[in-house]
Amino acid sequence: MQYYSLNKNAPKTSFADAVISGIAPDRGLYFPDNITPLPESFFDSIESLDNTEIAYQAIQQFIGDEIPESELRDILNDVLNFDFPVIDIEDNIGTLELFHGPTMAFKDVGARFMARCLGYFNRNKKSQVTVLVATSGDTGGAVANGFLGVNGVNVVILYPSGKVSEIQEKQLTTLGQNITALEVDGVFDDCQDMVKTAFLDASITDHMQLTSANSINVARWLPQLFYFLFAYKQIKHKNKDVVFSVPSGNFGNICAGIVAQKLGLPVKHFIAATNSNDTVVRYLKTSSYEPKQSIATISNAMDVGNPSNFVRIQQLFNNSIDSLKDKFSAYSFTDPQTKEAMLSIFNESGYIPDPHGAVGYLGLKKHKIEADQYGIFLETAHPVKFLDIVEETLQTSVEIPTQIQKVIDKEKHSTNINNYEELKEFLLNTYSK
Ligand SMILES: *Cc1c(COP(=O)(O)O)cnc(C)c1O
Repeated sequence: MQYYSLNKNAPKTSFADAVISGIAPDRGLYFPDNITPLPESFFDSIESLDNTEIAYQAIQQFIGDEIPESELRDILNDVLNFDFPVIDIEDNIGTLELFHGPTMAFKDVGARFMARCLGYFNRNKKSQVTVLVATSGDTGGAVANGFLGVNGVNVVILYPSGKVSEIQEKQLTTLGQNITALEVDGVFDDCQDMVKTAFLDASITDHMQLTSANSINVARWLPQLFYFLFAYKQIKHKNKDVVFSVPSGNFGNICAGIVAQKLGLPVKHFIAATNSNDTVVRYLKTSSYEPKQSIATISNAMDVGNPSNFVRIQQLFNNSIDSLKDKFSAYSFTDPQTKEAMLSIFNESGYIPDPHGAVGYLGLKKHKIEADQYGIFLETAHPVKFLDIVEETLQTSVEIPTQIQKVIDKEKHSTNINNYEELKEFLLNTYSK
């Protein structure tokens, strides 16, 4: 499969090159040259397929012959070795739990898939690749865990100091080996801007191969489309129109859902549910895209003022705002509304949501799910990842799973950086050939 840059000012490239370089030379995001719908028989018989088979059928065209079938199946088997259950919450509303992976965040699948692809592409080379990634919370832990010990790959994670939860911080600062955490005096957008600048800075890239592991990387982004297929497989028997509400920050997850729809998945409507970082919500109202500085909220993995993947969503709708609005809505919710929703879900159903899932739930409520529809909100993180806010809001205690407790007990190691020059110095001193 060939990938082109959405800035349309760079040559087309292979899947491998898109994964290794992360972003195109013209700073555009890579996008698949074409998306061919899966045969109807795939959706007719999806209940009888296991998750690896579903994933293989769905992702194969995006990789082509660049990874042999048996190797790709092994990668998928390994990446998808946990559950993705849909849990009924109330009449016509359920949640798709995406937090059963090793770091209990939905980004585990994308991070693990990307790490294994990179490991495969790098299998014979002695050269080193440096993965540079900005995190607003969960990406860092998932990437650190997914890439730990992968040969020939160093991982550098930038995170905003004091703006991620204690557990999130521990998950990305305690692994050691090929994983380094840089603690940035700033907000997530500062981290993301530094990463984007570094990719285009020849005084760095002349000395090392850099790549990204944010959802701008196609190998991080595309496997997220599996979730929507796994959900459909479980609720198909209900015979209802499906509406997905996706708690959104960089809009990679929901964008992958729309790719699943392009593959033929029957989806009635997509809802992007955001916190106060409402750039897309405002865009749909005013037709004018005006990014702004991110605002800190209790659903901090979505504190993104200028969502990278929105250009991909626009492309999926041929850059027509009218076609987009037909299939896609966006709503934003404040922290007090989010807490109220957490409490009401807990009181009504006994289910303990995390703040991100609660924002997704609010999206369904606002959109109003009709009797012939089934609304699914994505639970993108286990409540333990946002322990303080969950326990304080619900006045209940959350049991700490063993994989989290192990991390809490470890010691944090991070390096402080205050600006881009310091990042550059760090990279050159540490990794230059
Ligand atoms: C990253 C993240 C999101 C947002 O996903 P995007 O693909 O960036 O829109 C939502 N919830 C959690 C817990 C996350 O970690």
